[in-house]
Amino acid sequence: MRIALFGPPGAGKGTQAKLLVKREGLTHISTGDIIRNAIRAESALGQEVRGYVEGGQLVPDDVVWKLAKEAINAQGNDNFILDGYPRTVKQAEWMEEYLEGIDRPLHAFVSLVVPDEQLVDRLSKRRIHAETGDTYHLEHKPPPPDVDASLIKQRADDKPEKVRERLSVYKEETQPVESYYREKGMLVEINGEGTFEEVYERIVHQIKERADI
Ligand code: AMP
Repeated sequence: MRIALFGPPGAGKGTQAKLLVKREGLTHISTGDIIRNAIRAESALGQEVRGYVEGGQLVPDDVVWKLAKEAINAQGNDNFILDGYPRTVKQAEWMEEYLEGIDRPLHAFVSLVVPDEQLVDRLSKRRIHAETGDTYHLEHKPPPPDVDASLIKQRADDKPEKVRERLSVYKEETQPVESYYREKGMLVEINGEGTFEEVYERIVHQIKERADI
């Protein structure tokens, strides 16, 4: 199965992707994770992209497409779930041209729909475990007491002013990707409100129908 999970920052793409990996055996391809790892490792790529990420801006299309394509290739071009790619129409066009060219188009482009006020709440109270990457919410899913508090961090781009910037970039540059897939008949809109399990059930129901399994 080949799917992309789409939605604004804080819609729950990462959480749902992790569940799909665990239960459906898909491989998670997160361009955000690839980029954050490069920044942490202070590689040439990391140095090139750091300013964009910390400013809440998108990394240039050609740089991100190269990363996404490498990751897709590394999975034998199948059984993957994309999280955070594509984020511009250009990125979508390059990927579709490639996947259609090898006869492996996406089965579905799944868009998680969550109201703005919930997104700001989820992102500003989100915390990440620096080593495991586990995600918490200060109110709804606080880090357990046995976890070393010094390892619980807030992402630099989850600070309120960066969150506002990311949501505005999403509306201007990323949302048009939805129309691109709607026109192709590949858009699956999912209500992203509710518990993880409720949202997961909605996604799985839809993608299994699309992938015919
Ligand atoms: P994420 O973890 O998906 O929210 O991504 C974090 C940051 O990485 C974004 O705010 C962008 O700066 C960068 N990034 C990740 N994926 C992409 C993409 N497909 N296009 C451009 N920038 C990206």
